[in-house]
Amino acid sequence: MTGLTLDDLVQRLRAVLDGPGRAVEAVVLREGWKAALPQLHALRLEVKRLGAWAPHLTPEHGGMGLSLVQFAQVSEVLGRSPIGHWLCNCQAPDIGNMELMHTHADPSLQARWLMPLMHGEIRSCFAMTEPEHAGSNPVWMSTTAVRDADDYVITGHKWFTTGADGAAFTIVMAVTAPDAPPHKRATMIVVPTDTPGFSIVQNIMVMGERGGDHASHAEVRFDAVRVPVTNRIGSEGQGFELAQARLGPGRVHHCMRWIGICERAFDLMCERAVQRELSPGEPLARRDTVQHWVAESRAEIDAARLLVLDAALALETRGPLGAREQISAIKFHTAAVLQRVLDRAIQVHGAMGLTDATPLAFWWAHERGARIYDGPDEVHKQSLGRAILKRYATS
Ligand SMILES: Cc1cc2nc3c(=O)[nH]c(=O)nc-3n(C[C@H](O)[C@H](O)[C@H](O)COP(=O)(O)OP(=O)(O)OC[C@H]3O[C@@H](n4cnc5c(N)ncnc54)[C@H](O)[C@@H]3O)c2cc1C
Repeated sequence: MTGLTLDDLVQRLRAVLDGPGRAVEAVVLREGWKAALPQLHALRLEVKRLGAWAPHLTPEHGGMGLSLVQFAQVSEVLGRSPIGHWLCNCQAPDIGNMELMHTHADPSLQARWLMPLMHGEIRSCFAMTEPEHAGSNPVWMSTTAVRDADDYVITGHKWFTTGADGAAFTIVMAVTAPDAPPHKRATMIVVPTDTPGFSIVQNIMVMGERGGDHASHAEVRFDAVRVPVTNRIGSEGQGFELAQARLGPGRVHHCMRWIGICERAFDLMCERAVQRELSPGEPLARRDTVQHWVAESRAEIDAARLLVLDAALALETRGPLGAREQISAIKFHTAAVLQRVLDRAIQVHGAMGLTDATPLAFWWAHERGARIYDGPDEVHKQSLGRAILKRYATS
């Protein structure tokens, strides 16, 4: 971290998000991400000048070189606004793709795609889930990549490819060895989005909104898309293993972003509770129910934060396998806290909570998916419960 303490960094980012960031955020809430792009890019330059760029990257790559635990703390402050992570170029799915390509792409792929991604000049997406198969079982997919001399020919159908609209490339997960054991069948391959045969069918309507640019989820098709074999990330059949490695830190990033959302929702809830009067001199804050919601939210957010920081430390010290149980626990636990805190904050605002006067309604729609993406609640609970019970088994 060049000359900045973590506290300095957090203060600076908070000042941007609570200052000029609020006006840009309002445009995103009112008119959508695409309409706000000019203001977003201008503010991004300001953030870059402050030295708060790409907290997850090393200084050698233009980033801040934070540890995962430090980054988790920064991610919390960025999560206070829907624009926070994008401003620092650490938004999903690009951050996961950067980490993946940094460790597993060969130097020519890195020079062509990773460098501009790290500099924020292009965006990327990640195409794994298919409408025809349960995404909860990630080894089950129909998209294939067939070897033809020095090329792969890719055919398949994906959806919920976040940010495909306007992305320069996607990393696609495709089956290269259909007869191999399930976890060895798929491979990750970089596909530039201007390759013939790649198409965006539509930005999917999600909770009544089609979205655009970074804030969208697309249905995409690969119709005999031909790319060189050198576009492969890692080795053939390593796709599932790499996807798991990509998801570990990704879940910590999501959870800390959700804590940031919770904190902003908590502030909004408390501010509204003391300002809104049910009758003259009778603020909402005097009601037991509201006091209980505030107390429960405070305890739940603080507990979730400690759990997430503990998981981040475990991941850093013991690696993805060693931290598997903590990661599962934070994923479903924090998503549930997020949902409860947002719901209480909206309830305290009454009808206003459903409008674009605050980001609460935006988050309610956009973050319902928190209990589904990167593994639905039930999958994480099952895997944690199973791992714990294994230790009690007598035979
Ligand atoms: C906002 C959002 C963004 C996304 N972005 C991307 C992206 O960029 N790239 C990408 O490839 N995918 C993306 N996805 C897809 C996501 O990864 C899948 O939605 C997820 O893996 C679940 O798969 P599914 O939707 O097919 O649900 P299914 O697998 O059909 O599961 C449906 C439901 O079944 C239940 N269930 C599943 N397994 C079990 C079990 N073992 N025990 C009990 N109940 C179970 C759960 O309640 C689950 O919600 C995104 C999804 C969302 C919502």
